[in-house]
Amino acid sequence: MSRVLIIGCGGVASVAISKCCQIPEVFQEICIASRTKSKCDALAAKLAPKTTTKITTAQVDADDVNQLISLINGYKPDLVMNIALPYQDLTIMDACLACKVNYMDTANYEPENTDDPEWRAIYEKRCKEAGFSAYFDYSWQWAYQEKFKEAGLTALLGCGFDPGVTQAYVAYAKKHEFDTIDTIDILDCNGGDHGYPFATNFNPEINLREVSAPGSYWQDGHWIEIPAMSIKREYNFDQVGDKDMYLLHHEEIESIAKNLPEVKRIRFFMTFGQSYLTHMKCLENVGMLSTTPINFEGKEIVPIQFLKALLPDPASLGPRTKGKTNIGCIFTGKKDGKDKTFYIYNVCDHESCYKEVESQAISYTTGVPATCGALMLLTGKWAITGVHTVEEFDPDPFLDALDKYGLPRSISYSPVLVD
Ligand code: NDP
Repeated sequence: MSRVLIIGCGGVASVAISKCCQIPEVFQEICIASRTKSKCDALAAKLAPKTTTKITTAQVDADDVNQLISLINGYKPDLVMNIALPYQDLTIMDACLACKVNYMDTANYEPENTDDPEWRAIYEKRCKEAGFSAYFDYSWQWAYQEKFKEAGLTALLGCGFDPGVTQAYVAYAKKHEFDTIDTIDILDCNGGDHGYPFATNFNPEINLREVSAPGSYWQDGHWIEIPAMSIKREYNFDQVGDKDMYLLHHEEIESIAKNLPEVKRIRFFMTFGQSYLTHMKCLENVGMLSTTPINFEGKEIVPIQFLKALLPDPASLGPRTKGKTNIGCIFTGKKDGKDKTFYIYNVCDHESCYKEVESQAISYTTGVPATCGALMLLTGKWAITGVHTVEEFDPDPFLDALDKYGLPRSISYSPVLVD
């Protein structure tokens, strides 16, 4: 019998919660806790008639470790799923350690306030030493390694699609397809259309911070950083068609480079339409993507947070979005002394997702892996103590669960390679 505390009730969490309720034999009891309790209550009321999972709700400010500790001690879960924002990763990890509970999330830590001088000093040192300047990196959470090990607990980091499933694809390629992997290209294509001139598919603040940052990739043991959106390729995606894609910095490159040091080059590409890029550039040029507070008519506001309030809520895109996503990894390397290529990916249809859980495919492709990751921890299939990313675990039961619960894999042994 498992009891799970899920923190956050936005686009991704709603899908993960719906999926947990489809697996009541494992998720017997869940508590949905978030900043705005009314959202948790509304989701619980919608799901309760369709499941035997016992759902309760709670209000919590996950920036406050003491509030988290009393919530966790009161509910006594077997696992805490953090599907709030990356800003809360460290406070929730601290509370899990204090209460001796396993932890998981879908994105690595970044601070809400990037002007905090204490954080900035560490960040600037890391930029110089590591060679990439994204606001997020794994060092903050990897620092909890010994504490989680000593407590006999597991922290599973970044268990969405990318990061998450993409690393399971890496572990699968390493386990079944290659003796050595030379290159990995992660391709994230969203061929969906929501009909708005501009909207983001997940939390706008986190999304716009990510895509407006300089790009970078891993080559021959070090990072190469490039101006944002300066490397563009065209690719023909199965069931989507031709799309322009751009090289981005992405968090799983960092952990794959650490865990598979033999890989010579790791890149990440994401598709963007011209309209999205033009809107983003314009917003950036006028300062709307800034995370630095400004004073507006006597009130302090953060421009990117104000922009978030103006943009459509990603959770509201579901009924409008048509088309498919295609996300996967292309590998080159050697098997039995011979050169080999391998492509493993998932295609997901926005409208089918909406029919099933009333969500678009971006939240679906993140929420389902979160539930499958929780399933691995709760059933003991993934049981390494310490702080770990997905490629460190056995990919087979996880990919089987994804096949079963809505994100089946497709495989090609002769993919077109990205130059
Ligand atoms: P949303 O903004 O839709 O939801 C965030 C939720 O967290 C909301 O319910 C919000 O509450 C809650 N929240 C925010 N701050 C706090 C707080 N201090 N205390 C308690 N609850 C809080 O985000 P998404 O669902 O789009 O994204 C969720 C996570 O998934 C993010 O970390 C994102 O980076 C990650 N992600 C990962 C992907 C992957 O493939 N790995 C892909 C896409 C997203 P409220 O309703 O009050 O605002």
